[in-house]
Amino acid sequence: MPAYAIALPPVVTLPVAGSSAVFPVRRVYCIGRNYAAHAIEMGHDPDREAPFFFQKNPNNLDASGEFVYPEKSTDVHHEVEMAVMLQSGGCNIPVSKALSHVFGYALSLDMTRRDLQGEQKKLGRPWEIGKAFERSAPVGPIHTVEQVGHLAQGRIELSINGALKQQGDLNQMIWKVPEMISYLSDYFKLAAGDVILSGTPAGVGPVVKGDVMDIALDGLGAMTIPVT
Ligand code: MN
Repeated sequence: MPAYAIALPPVVTLPVAGSSAVFPVRRVYCIGRNYAAHAIEMGHDPDREAPFFFQKNPNNLDASGEFVYPEKSTDVHHEVEMAVMLQSGGCNIPVSKALSHVFGYALSLDMTRRDLQGEQKKLGRPWEIGKAFERSAPVGPIHTVEQVGHLAQGRIELSINGALKQQGDLNQMIWKVPEMISYLSDYFKLAAGDVILSGTPAGVGPVVKGDVMDIALDGLGAMTIPVT
């Protein structure tokens, strides 16, 4: 085996609830506008058009339990989402077989530099500068399918400083988890370690340093994430 020409970058891992084993991350796919009420609040038609995805980087995922307010933005928004972790993958996965590839689920946030994303949208440019910044996706411990089953319904919500801001139900997702996996597998070769952020319900808005975000999802519990 050849020596590495530079120091080997660390493998990004996430904690698994009730286990000392950790989950290694390969890729991160995020779906846009997957709740009708959120599509409407962002100025879009909620009709069921083909889904669209963007990506974050594996090391944007942050299991530290805090959100570090990023540089270069004065309008950073919260988006509470369910993360789906894959234990296997492939191409052209049928919807009926998709859930067999799921390892587990976690609470997560798709934090967004909305001002920068908005500029990119206007220019027809990619969103990474608004979406894929350092520590942009706080994520909680992974709950395995063995522990919690498959999550297709249940309340998902976010409060800031005790005031409810986002609330929805997983059953309101326009594209369900098996459909997202199947669709992505037609365009990419999915594999163990891939993570899918499944979209946010309505009520997105800004956070500021010192805020405390409380996020919860039926079946996965709750977590508190301060903005530092
Ligand atoms: Mn999102």
